Amino acid sequence: MEDQPYAYRRRELTEPDWRRLPGWAAVTPAQWESAQWQRAHCVKNLRQLREVAGPGLSDAFLADAERDQREAATMSMLIPPQMLNTIAPSTGPGDGAAFTEAWYADPVRRYMLPVFSDRRPDWPSHPYAQRDSLHEAEMWAVEGLTHRYPTKVLAELLPTCPQYCGHCTRMDLVGNSTAQVTKHKLTMTRDDRLAAMLDYLTVTPGVRDVVVSGGDVANLPWPRLEAFVAALLEVESVRDIRLASKALMGLPQHWLADEVRAGMERVAGIARSRGVSLAIHTHVNSAQSVTPLVARAAAAMLAAGVRDVRNQGVLLRGVNDSPAALLDLCFALLDEARIMPYYFYLCDMIPGSEHWRLTLAEAQALQSAIMGYLPGFATPRMVCDVPYVGKRWVHQVARYDTVRGISYWTKNYRTGIEAGDDLALTREYPYYDPVHTLPEEGRAWWRDQEGALAG
Ligand code: SF4
Repeated sequence: MEDQPYAYRRRELTEPDWRRLPGWAAVTPAQWESAQWQRAHCVKNLRQLREVAGPGLSDAFLADAERDQREAATMSMLIPPQMLNTIAPSTGPGDGAAFTEAWYADPVRRYMLPVFSDRRPDWPSHPYAQRDSLHEAEMWAVEGLTHRYPTKVLAELLPTCPQYCGHCTRMDLVGNSTAQVTKHKLTMTRDDRLAAMLDYLTVTPGVRDVVVSGGDVANLPWPRLEAFVAALLEVESVRDIRLASKALMGLPQHWLADEVRAGMERVAGIARSRGVSLAIHTHVNSAQSVTPLVARAAAAMLAAGVRDVRNQGVLLRGVNDSPAALLDLCFALLDEARIMPYYFYLCDMIPGSEHWRLTLAEAQALQSAIMGYLPGFATPRMVCDVPYVGKRWVHQVARYDTVRGISYWTKNYRTGIEAGDDLALTREYPYYDPVHTLPEEGRAWWRDQEGALAG
């Protein structure tokens, strides 16, 4: 076989041994596989992190994380044991300084447990970074129901998740307030909001596709989620339902619970009998997150009758910004867990995300580099979620000023707020590369802009 830029080989999935961490030395497999145990032992603060990782994780690392929480974090800390256990999986506290070094370098740690020294001191945020950078709340048809595309909607059922990701695009609403960010609150009661969503869908037959999200649907009590999906299945015009849950990876124990499996079998059966596609969309960014338990959870959902389990990852610097990292992830998903690689998004322009974000050119290069290795149907598209536009394939850009790092995009449909906007389909919409990646001429231009914006 010729030398190839990427060498494919099957890799058996492994569940890292949680007993290597002092805080979990006595945890049994039965406890580990219990969703209840996992939820009760999530790491929510640095004291708990210290208890789990032990004294081998350096004080300097914990101080770095603490400074991040105080001065930069847009998401509070919440990491289920399942996810924490995949950080630096092949080292333990007995490895001395190498243990902390491995934590610093780890891809999962880089986005689930940000430290201050990860961030850009020069440009921590882009001048045009915004809370709710995709303007989803502006497009709410009813509270929590974003109607951005002609035929599909996003239903945010709840503002919590079993895990909080440092780069969360819904940092405006999702999770607990942090030292830097006071979260917005949904105002309607959950039952009223869900009823209003169903009412809207009933009178809006042009919508055929509903992304049921949050937050993460794994945080909705199963009977409530089942009732909502069952009600959606009563809406004649709804043909696609996708349940968004990072917890399929972060807390697979939830999706393996008997109640959830039995309930999914019921709704998947109704969906099948009505010819509706019910799928689960998850969010995995790194191959090491795909463990045997994740594969079992995906298999359980497929066995329960969902049409597909698909992955929507996020391109993040230091996490998955190489063709090999992406292909390793895609093959782990596809070969070992039967999860379909679907999208990789550019990280959205929320405050504090510059050290994670890639340029459009980098995403284009990654797209080109992974072509031809995976089956066409499982080759993920790299997409840019352009504010006021929606997802665009990275090679669809209309114009690209690489000196200032501004890409311009067009669209072929109106969002829910542009009914009377004659220019909506001809206007160009900008998206911005991280300033620190630009040539000096571009950085100087942005320094001037920033001065003007501040003035
Ligand atoms: S799981 Fe999704 S919604 Fe929840 S914090 Fe992570 S990115 Fe945000």
